[in-house]
This record gives sequence, C-alpha cells and structure tokens, in this order.
Amino acid sequence: MTGNAARVQAIQNIINRKPMPAKAPESLDSLWASDVFTLSKMKENLPKEIFKSVKKTIEASEQLDVSVADVVALAMKDWAMSKGALYYAHVFYPLTNATAEKHDGFISVQSDGSVISEFSGKVLVQGEPDGSSFPNGGIRSTFEARGYTAWDVTSPAFIMTTDNGATLCIPTVFVSWTGEALDKKTPLLRANAAMNKAAKRVLSLLGHTDIAPVNSSCGAEQEYFLVDANFVNNRPDLLLAGRTLFGAPAAKGQQFDDHYFGAIPERVQVYMQDVEEQLYRLGIPAKTRHNEVAPGQFEIAPFFESANVATDHQQLLMTVLRNTAKKHGLVCLLHEKPFKGINGSGKHVNWSVGNATQGNLLDPGTTPHSNTQFLLFCGAVIRGVHRYGPLLRAAVATASNDHRLGANEAPPAIMSVYLGSQLDNVFEQISNGKITGSLNAGVMDLGINTLPVFNRDAGDRNRTSPFAFTGNRFEFRAVGSGQSVAGPLVTMNTILADSLNWVADRLDSKLKQGADLDTAILNTLKEIIDQHGAVVFGGNGYSAEWHKMAVEERGLANLKTAADALPVLKEAYVEELFDTLGVLSPVELASRFEIYAEQYILAIEVEAKLVLSMAKTGIYPAAVKYLSDLSCAINSLKSNGIELGNERLVQVAALLASMMETIAKLGTAISRHDFPTTEEHMQFCANTIRPLMDEVRRYADSLEGEIADELWPYPTYQEMLFIK
Ligand code: ADP
Ligand code: MG
Repeated sequence: MTGNAARVQAIQNIINRKPMPAKAPESLDSLWASDVFTLSKMKENLPKEIFKSVKKTIEASEQLDVSVADVVALAMKDWAMSKGALYYAHVFYPLTNATAEKHDGFISVQSDGSVISEFSGKVLVQGEPDGSSFPNGGIRSTFEARGYTAWDVTSPAFIMTTDNGATLCIPTVFVSWTGEALDKKTPLLRANAAMNKAAKRVLSLLGHTDIAPVNSSCGAEQEYFLVDANFVNNRPDLLLAGRTLFGAPAAKGQQFDDHYFGAIPERVQVYMQDVEEQLYRLGIPAKTRHNEVAPGQFEIAPFFESANVATDHQQLLMTVLRNTAKKHGLVCLLHEKPFKGINGSGKHVNWSVGNATQGNLLDPGTTPHSNTQFLLFCGAVIRGVHRYGPLLRAAVATASNDHRLGANEAPPAIMSVYLGSQLDNVFEQISNGKITGSLNAGVMDLGINTLPVFNRDAGDRNRTSPFAFTGNRFEFRAVGSGQSVAGPLVTMNTILADSLNWVADRLDSKLKQGADLDTAILNTLKEIIDQHGAVVFGGNGYSAEWHKMAVEERGLANLKTAADALPVLKEAYVEELFDTLGVLSPVELASRFEIYAEQYILAIEVEAKLVLSMAKTGIYPAAVKYLSDLSCAINSLKSNGIELGNERLVQVAALLASMMETIAKLGTAISRHDFPTTEEHMQFCANTIRPLMDEVRRYADSLEGEIADELWPYPTYQEMLFIK
C-alpha cells in the first residue's frame, strides 16, 4: 500500500470495516406504504362522510373544507403518534432543488403545567415558516419575510423515521405573503391544470363527452455514484462541491464496458436493499436497479406515478439515497459529473399524459381512431419542443449539468425529438398529404381512418436524443441527476398545454368552416409537421454533422452552457407562455431567472475557491516536498559519483510553476465583481473562470502522474472508484 498517511488510513478503515448487521427481510405487504397516511388509512380512521369529502377534494384537486380539515388532522395526528411521532413538519420545495422542512411539536402546555398533544385542521392545512432565508429572486424584501405553506392534499402525508423517533411530514406549496410562488410545487400544479384544460378541449373536439381530469405522469430514472466516505472525507472538492476538481484518470476506466449491468457488488446491494425497504415504507414504488456505465455508478428507477406525487417522491428518493449511504459508510454523489473522463449521471424523466376515461394519450394504441388522437397529442409535443426548445434547455441549465450536456455521453444541448422509424414514417406520409401509397383516391377520400396501425415502438432506441418517444411516453434525457424534476415537468406540461390549445383552435376553426373531423385532423397534423418537423431527428445526436446541420440548416438553438440558456427565461415569448397559461406570472418568472443565475454563479465561485485552496495547500506543498527530496537525492548521488540527471526535477518544477501562474490568474478572476449585468457575470464564469480552473487542473493532474505516490495528498481516482 502506498499513498500518504491519510489515504493509507482510509484504505485501512475500509478493509477493517464491519459489515452492516443483517436484517430479516420483510414482506412487501407489511412494508408497502406503512409510513404513509394513504387513502385507505383515511378510510379506516375517518367517519364515512368526512372520508368521502376528502376523497372528492383530492380527486378534483380542490381546497379542503376547514371543518373537514379538523377531523382529518386529528386522525392524522393519532396515526402519526401511534407510530412514535411527536413532531410534524410542513415539507416544501424551495427554488434550490433541495427539500425544506419546518418542524413543530404536537405538544401543547396547559396552564397547570401538564401537556397534551394538539394538531388542528388549521395547522395541518397552513403553516407559516419564516421565508426570508429562502431564495426569492427579488419577490420580497427581507422585511416582508412572511411565507406560507399550504397542504397539497393530492400528495399524501408520511412519516420520516430516524433511530430516535419519527416526524409526520406534510407536503406543501410555499408562497409569499403576496401570493407569489416561492417553490417548485405551485407551478407544477398550475402547469398540470393548464394542460388538463387544454387536453380536455382537444378531447371534446374529437367527440368525447365523458372526459375525466387529464393528469401528467412521471417515472424518473436516477443515476448516482457511491464512494466510500473515508475517501470523501479527504477530498474537500467532493465534500463541498460534490465533484472532483482534480484527479488524474485511473489506468482502468469504463473502457471494458464491464460494469454496466454487471453483478452488483455485495456491499452496494445491501445498501440498495436498505434504500428500497425505506422507499417501500414511504409508498415509493422502486422497481429497477442496476450498475451503470461508469465504475462505482448505479441506477434506481421507481414505477411511474402522477407527476406531482412522483416529484415529491423523487425528492424523497434523493434524500433516502444520501442518508442511507451515510449509514453504510458510503457517500451517494448525485452530481452530474463527479469524475472527469468517465460517464456522468443524469435523470431520465419519462413523461406522459392521460386520464381515467381515455387512458394514456401518448399510447399509439391499436385502432385507427385512437391513432389519430394519439397523433394529435404526439404532434402537439413535437410543436412544443420546436417552439420552446430553448426553454426546455433552460429547464435543465445548471452549473453541474453543463459538464454533461454535449459531452458525448449525454444528449447534446440541442433540443430535438426522436420518434423512431415507424412514427417518422407516419409523419412523413402526413406531410406528403397521402397516408399510404396504396391508396389512389385523393387525400380527402382516403380519410384518416386509413392510417396504418402501427405497433408499439419495436424498441429501437436512440440514446443520443434528448427527447425521445419510447413507446407510450416521451423520455427527457437532459435532466441533471441532482435536479428536482419539477422544473422539467412544469416546462413539458406548459408547452404541451400551449400546443394543445393551438390544436384545439385549429380544429375548431376548420370544423366551423365546414370541414369534417378527419380532414380537420389531417390538415392540422400536416401544419404541425410542415412547420415544426425540423425538430424531429433520428440520427446520431453526438455527431459533428448534426451540430452543424441542426443550427445552420434547421435553425435549432445550441445553447452550450447554462450561461447561454438561462437568459431564455427573460425572453418575451417565454414570459407570455407562462403568463397566458397562468403557470408563472412575469414577476415569478423573473425571480426564477435571478435565482438560477445566482446559483450558477455561486456554484462556480465555490468551485474556483476550492481549486485555489486545494492547489495551494495540498498539491503545491506535495510537489515542493518531492522536488526537495529529489534534488537532495540527486546531490547526494552526485557526491558519490553517480549522475542521475536533473530532467525530472526541471520538468516537475516547470509544471508546478505553470500551475501557480494559472492559480494567480484564477485568484484575480474570482475577485472581480463589477459586472454590469447578471448575464455578463454568468458569461464570465463560463468563459473565463471555468477555463482557468480547467487549466489549473491540467497541470495538477500531470503533477499527480509525476510525483511520489506517498506524497500525493488526495485519494486517487483508482482508490475512489475501485475500492469499496
Ligand atoms: P429504460 O429502458 O429507459 O432504462 P426503465 O424501465 O429503467 O427504462 O424506466 C422507464 C421508466 O418509465 C419507469 O420509471 C417507468 O415506470 C416509466 N414509465 C412507463 N410508462 C410511463 C408513462 N406512461 N408515463 C410516465 N412514465 C412511464
Ligand atoms: Mg431511460
């Protein structure tokens, strides 16, 4: 074993680590949703009339009546206390991708000094955390700090347990005193409502009379890395920034393709099973687990749920992944690019829309009639991605995701839609105005009923596409692994709502002009594909040809960095989109730009500071010590008549000098704060600070390959990726 003392100690700790005590496996029946106040638990614990009223409220996404709330609160408290909870928390989702919670006790002190437990409908339904410490992007000044949380009845309350107790958690929206959304849940609920309204318009124009509420669904595939905590504790970059800012590649990376779907290491499997047990208790339907492409990388995918619940569950899943890793002596990294030179992590957001009466509206089905309905919804998605591609790009724009998008392992930053060959062909026929070559009458006579019945996607996949149709849903693959899925879902539902309204307007006017329904549909679809077909692309999204063609011939945007993408939120057409559909007011949208831009700048500044401190206090001293050892050795050998030569000395000294020169430049760069606009500050981060950080890293990583291993201060890639 080589390595400096701290690294050797870390490896010793891992070797001597005691395995987690084995737990007897529990049955799915006893685990499933045992920590959730589900509808069936409400049914058990509430008077019949009250239960009916709550159920109706949930189904219609309405407000809970206060008298009903009191009864629900009491039942919820009794249930939670029976599970050991003494506290409750309103859980909300501020604009930071994190989850926030404010805890209060059920305890109420009486005048005689005794205590009782208390939990009224009012405190269940509404809370008032001091909102001043959450980013608000200028919506409020600190002296107007009031923020309100309100229970989202469509997302069930649950219990979070620690070794020492339990807390009742109530999912809530978070709004300012003036009613503006300060969170990610409020716009998601609004976007879903807008999509529901627009989808119903289209469905009723198609002749449906019984139309249940249309909801969006989401199934998110989560990638993550696991690294032993002993290593992470010796890496300030992993601790504070979640990614390695230094580190030469290990001799072996992912080139053998031997990790993907390989046997899961036992320690990791024990961890995964622990995670899954907790997820089941929380009613989160974990379904798939496997190794990912990079060494030390894994994936978990729950079964899909309604987008709102799936979003809350996704936040919980990230919390459970992180917290459980700690118990197992591991650290779960959700950063998009923890290690240079091997794959990063994303979150594929599978998304569809549907309802109880018409089913999944993005399912091609098997009958011609439902095909046309499907084609309209699919066409609406195509139009949305084309018109609002830059907005979709902005919805996944973070400092960390910039390392992934366009880096030839994840989708490019150019937003395009992959349909698969069958659908490509159908839309091509639509564009030609003829459905199949075998029909010889005119388009009008052919009627839409002759559309070929196509089977579900045969399973051909295009991993290079950011937005792919995968059989009965779309999969948005550009989402970052550490991101909340709320923003992407808000965007998808909003652009679909806009497109469905457009479709409804077109159908409506064509029908009013006397067209029959089939013709109106076909012509509307033709308009879509003729105007927006440029966004459909089935080839290799990584290729240089596509990057050129997409921009030069098809007019698609290639917004390479978050600094390029976030200003899209300030564009007039984006403001109008969100405002018209009632998803975000102009003030709310502007605040989001401010917050996301600030987070981008802060993230890069923190990293730059870490680069400075690690290079100066860790790498520089190690290199100097090596140089001094080496020059002593050279001199003493010389006095014994042996010539070692001083080439290595010169080479290492030169690398060190270059590193320190760049460090000086980086230091100057981060001290600059006089930027006329936020946009310019972001561009400076992207185009000046980041390249300087990369340059420091190049010198440092070269030094790592030159100096004595026993002097190197930080755990290496080989250690972090291969020792568990
Ligand atoms: P992949 O082949 O892309 O790795 P996975 O099976 O890992 O697929 O994940 C697919 C995800 O898509 C799962 O979460 C699944 O539940 C989800 N999904 C399936 N149907 C729908 C749907 N109609 N709406 C949303 N998500 C869906
Ligand atoms: Mg997938």
